[in-house]
Amino acid sequence: MPTSKPAPDCAPAALAPDPFRQLLDEVGAFVYTTDLQGRYTYANRLVLELLGHALDDVVGKDTTHFFGEAGNEALRENDARVLRGGETIAREESNLIMATGELRTYWSLKKPLRDAAGNIIGMLGISHDITEKKRLEDRVRKQKELLDTVLDNVDALVYMKDTHRRFIYANQHVAEALGQPVERIIGRLDTEVLPREVADKFWALDQKIFATGQRHAGEEALVDGDGRWRHFWSVVVPLSAPDGTPAVIGLSTDITELHELKEELKRQASTDALTGLANRRSFWERAGHEFARSRRHGTALSLIAIDIDHFKRLNDSFGHLAGDRVLREFAACCRDMLRDGDLCARTGGEEFCVLLPDTDLAGAMHIAERIRALTASLCLDDQGQRLRVSASFGVASLGAGDEDFDALFARADRALYGAKQQGRDRISSGR
Ligand code: GH3
Ligand code: MG
Ligand code: MG
Repeated sequence: MPTSKPAPDCAPAALAPDPFRQLLDEVGAFVYTTDLQGRYTYANRLVLELLGHALDDVVGKDTTHFFGEAGNEALRENDARVLRGGETIAREESNLIMATGELRTYWSLKKPLRDAAGNIIGMLGISHDITEKKRLEDRVRKQKELLDTVLDNVDALVYMKDTHRRFIYANQHVAEALGQPVERIIGRLDTEVLPREVADKFWALDQKIFATGQRHAGEEALVDGDGRWRHFWSVVVPLSAPDGTPAVIGLSTDITELHELKEELKRQASTDALTGLANRRSFWERAGHEFARSRRHGTALSLIAIDIDHFKRLNDSFGHLAGDRVLREFAACCRDMLRDGDLCARTGGEEFCVLLPDTDLAGAMHIAERIRALTASLCLDDQGQRLRVSASFGVASLGAGDEDFDALFARADRALYGAKQQGRDRISSGR
């Protein structure tokens, strides 16, 4: 809106004819003209409503009358550039409205009005109130700043994908995980930035979310830029893209360390620390599965129960550490004898079990004999003294009467007892 010092010697210009005035009242913008001194010569309905006066009260009055002087300096400068400098200006302006004490923002086009000789005789102004738009833009900008700060500082991979498998958004963590800059990820297909297999897996999940509209939470794994497997806890939710089309937004937290720790704890919980063989608990679990599988498929299953002979005496003579060494060496002997699918475990102090799927009694007896012979040939040297080790073996194979694995084990254990009774360092079978 215009402001400038009044010059009472100059009369207001003629008002616009009625049809034009009506038209100008309906244009939805503030339309006004002033004379060379900045006094209103015309103001449309919107201007009059804003000023809270009738046209007769407004015409001939300087704009400072309505807008005040303080806070409107920039406005007066603009008007002076039009009225004195003959410039046409189109820019944002702020008006402090005296009637309401409110500061409002306008997009104003101000042009000099000239007479037939080209002399400036006043100014034409058209202003659009953009206060609400500005407030909204300001709010959006602040929200975007907040969101950007959160997204770049949150310790998670955040990404957005559309229904065509295209990345709409990716934060810095995604870029680091994929070893590619954000600009190379946004706008690309998942198949262009991820290994095909991984991209397809994620796409299958995305499709499910698009179809059901349900959020998904679960563990995912992918190979990073250095070829290392990384594990994530991902929450993927359906959401509209900024243009309103369907999209999914994913938030994935890197849990690789936690995953590795969990795997290590799982491994430790199922492994015997001294020998590295399976422990009793995991052996029993796996044996139960193998028993059920053999029953289902009618395949053979054999078990060798082993106990090292006179181990207490060995400990007493050579010490506990030497005993531990024997246990490790013996475990290595067993491992050397076995095929993939066989299971060897340390089920007690100096007690071991070997489970042999798809192996009948004769085959198991043969393997037991090979372990026995290898054990007998073990030559462990302890401070110049030779340690001789032997073990006793009880072998049993799955029979029609065995109701569960415990029954098979009981027969192998009885056979082992028999081997001990018969003098040790030998194999006995339990039918
Ligand atoms: P047998 O020939 O009748 O089996 O006699 P044995 O001495 O082997 O049997 P016994 O059950 O009397 O003794 C087992 C010994 O194994 C007792 C225990 O101190 C020892 N032992 C158990 N666990 C360990 C271990 O982890 N390390 C060592 N060095 N010795 C162990
Ligand atoms: Mg024993
Ligand atoms: Mg023993």
